[in-house]
Amino acid sequence: MGVKEAREVLKQFFGYDQFRPGQEDIIGNVLAKRDTVVLMPTGGGKSVCYQVPGLVLPGLCVVVSPLIALMKDQVEALLANGVNAGYLNSSQAAKEQQLIEQQCFDGRLKMLYVSPEKLLSAGFFSFLKRLEISLFAIDEAHCISAWGHDFRPEYLQLKNLKLQFPEVPIIALTATADRLTQKDILTQLYLQNPRVFISSFDRPNIHLQVQPGQKRMEAILDFLEERPFQPGIIYCLSRKATESLAAKLKEKGFNADYYHAGLSAKDRDKVQEKFLQDNIQIMCATIAFGMGIDKSNVRWVIHYNLPKNLESYYQEIGRGGRDGAPAEALLFYSLADVMTLRDIVTQGDNKEQALSLAKLDRMQQFAESTSCRRKTLMHYFGEEFDRDCGNCDICDNPPTSFNGTELAQKILSAVARTKETVASAQVVDILRGSRNQLTISRGYDQLKTFGAGREVPSQDWQRYIHQLINQGILEVAYDEHGALKLTNASQEVLFRGKKVELVKFQAPLPKEEKEKRQ
Ligand code: ADP
Ligand code: ZN
Repeated sequence: MGVKEAREVLKQFFGYDQFRPGQEDIIGNVLAKRDTVVLMPTGGGKSVCYQVPGLVLPGLCVVVSPLIALMKDQVEALLANGVNAGYLNSSQAAKEQQLIEQQCFDGRLKMLYVSPEKLLSAGFFSFLKRLEISLFAIDEAHCISAWGHDFRPEYLQLKNLKLQFPEVPIIALTATADRLTQKDILTQLYLQNPRVFISSFDRPNIHLQVQPGQKRMEAILDFLEERPFQPGIIYCLSRKATESLAAKLKEKGFNADYYHAGLSAKDRDKVQEKFLQDNIQIMCATIAFGMGIDKSNVRWVIHYNLPKNLESYYQEIGRGGRDGAPAEALLFYSLADVMTLRDIVTQGDNKEQALSLAKLDRMQQFAESTSCRRKTLMHYFGEEFDRDCGNCDICDNPPTSFNGTELAQKILSAVARTKETVASAQVVDILRGSRNQLTISRGYDQLKTFGAGREVPSQDWQRYIHQLINQGILEVAYDEHGALKLTNASQEVLFRGKKVELVKFQAPLPKEEKEKRQ
């Protein structure tokens, strides 16, 4: 049984002439009855990796999938292709289940989809033992890891598959797994000498950039002006924010609408459909939007707020540029968002909290990164990526380091003079000498540091503050509304002349200039 047969099956049942890169090696490994792990981005073609071997090998291929809602569609698509497939889950009537079970006994079924609950239900293993099983396919395998972002405790019981059916190969598939999740998949499923296939997760056509989140609306308007009529998505943290942002954009004459889980199913379908058909240019949405949406010409994705982790970020920006043409991903980053997210993620139990906070930290590090963003991302997902990508804000304008001692001292003395009670945005206001309600009511306009840094734009001040935090020269008290706190290192800088290196981001080239240089 080999690759030749696999190719025939691919043609006969799926109508494709060739395997995509990666598929053939994966299938070869499965046909050799070895355990296999497949990491492939959504849309990469994971299903074929177990469906083809399932058809080539004698016996029944059992597919474990948590997505009950999709099972029916998957099975119907297979039936339409002439594959004898069926599914078993809790949503079915007993009679329907018996029918499928009978087909299994008759050896007529080739592909059986089951929910994890069904697989682990009483008597199901002894049912399987009476059948010839060719292969177990574990879809959405990242659900087995508590470190993953979609942990399902029942997945932990899947280790019994290997214990009960040591001779049946397992193929575990996922579109999202960082290094630790990958390790969990291998160990929790007791895979034997598994081979791990990682197809590149890189989406090289998506340009990545991060901007400080202080003047988001202005930045968005500039961004849109450069992209007339290009469809895009703006992800917001709250339902309310999607509505008010859409309203503001409409006011400015843009064709925008909003989408969130609070809308009726009918309204959601309606706006989604309009967006798909290019009748809405800009979709302001919560993360509820996008799952299962296949729109290939989304030209840009903006994160109005910081996502909770890099998995979500990457999944969401991945909705841009599916057609392979250039697309833009713009992320706004502010410490205020970090605080809101910390509040949100610390609502779970303790163990969950620690994980979520660790992931949020990684997200924050990415936003503050001073080296190639794509490199950081790819490393997070466990991919080797040694070069600089040439398609992110950092690669466009590599930051240069300079002696930032004086700037750091200005920041630190503003923090000291406000008695370590104010957050970064207000520190910037003080340095820039902005007269607003807070600075005036608290008398900050009387401070010696007030207006000491007018010549530096506020976005740059924000970035310097982030860098000082990264260097341990400042701390953020998240439990005090993000008040900045001095550390031992700050004392060194303020009073003992310790030098501080800062990194300067060049202003991006004006558009015409960029075009000239290309
Ligand atoms: P995933 O599960 O990785 O998100 P799918 O298995 O749903 O992706 O495949 C995505 C699309 O790619 C499907 O429309 C599938 O039919 C198609 N596809 C898969 N393999 C091939 C191939 N070898 N040649 C052409 N199209 C393929
Ligand atoms: Zn880069």
